Amino acid sequence: MVKIAGLTGHEKVLKRTKTIIACILATGLMFAVLSCAPEEEEDERVGVVVTVLPQAEFVENVGGEKVSVTVLVPPGASPHTYEPKPAQMAALAEAEMYAKVGSGVEFELVWLDKLIAANKGMTVVDCSKGTELQEIETEGEHEGEHENHSRLDPHIWMSPLNAQIMVRNICDGLVEVDPGNSGYYEQNRDDYLQQLTEIDRKMRDGLAEVKNRRFMVYHPAFGYFASEYNLEMIAIEEEGKEPTAASLVRLIEKAKAHDIKVIFAEPQFNPKSAEVIAEAIGGRVVLIDPLARDYIGNLRLILSEMLPVME
Ligand SMILES: [Zn+2]
Repeated sequence: MVKIAGLTGHEKVLKRTKTIIACILATGLMFAVLSCAPEEEEDERVGVVVTVLPQAEFVENVGGEKVSVTVLVPPGASPHTYEPKPAQMAALAEAEMYAKVGSGVEFELVWLDKLIAANKGMTVVDCSKGTELQEIETEGEHEGEHENHSRLDPHIWMSPLNAQIMVRNICDGLVEVDPGNSGYYEQNRDDYLQQLTEIDRKMRDGLAEVKNRRFMVYHPAFGYFASEYNLEMIAIEEEGKEPTAASLVRLIEKAKAHDIKVIFAEPQFNPKSAEVIAEAIGGRVVLIDPLARDYIGNLRLILSEMLPVME
């Protein structure tokens, strides 16, 4: 088999080609090894764990390339029911900071103590510090009896003004964990706060014009949003459960009475009851996401979905 001395011309060319390829690969490998050196600095990024995706956006806007963010509740999952995976617990053990929402999100109520126990050295930042929690009201009718149930609404991030408070809290946390880069974090924070001010103004101006100020949505994630822009949210879901048949009838009547043309639903939940109502009123279902990572882009999208149907 090995017959180097007696190579044909074609074999020689092939061998030379192979040698050239080997050299290129070796050079490439050398460069790869060399370029590894600066990349090692990436390991020095501050590891930050957050509960929901919008928080990841906040942390990344403040922390820039100096942070590495892990989101515990992944896209498509609900922070009211999600359970962390073992791999996420491992990432958590390496983190230096946990930015909790802090407003009573079930994921945190159930898991936070265990998450903190897995990494006691971690700085825990309460993003809700300084926000004003409001009640979430859902109507429930049981055997003819009309009851109002209320509990605190955890979806604080859906108001851009609350988002500003959350961003400030996140910045304070990063400065505490990594004081050497405080100037960097504070500059980024101010830039992002400016963007949040702008989107808030845009939402406020846009929604000030709408005549029909009621909107119907499956999961009541838009309470702070509604309060901020003087709108009224009518939720379909009742205390985390699908509405009863009687509730559906009542919601259909309400939608007709208030001239609601579109039923909003969230991608994390089954849209079936929203579809039932939409069909009954001759309207349609539009998905809006309270958990999108691109926070500002998503608000813009929500505005563009709401404006035409609330006029
Ligand atoms: Zn929710």
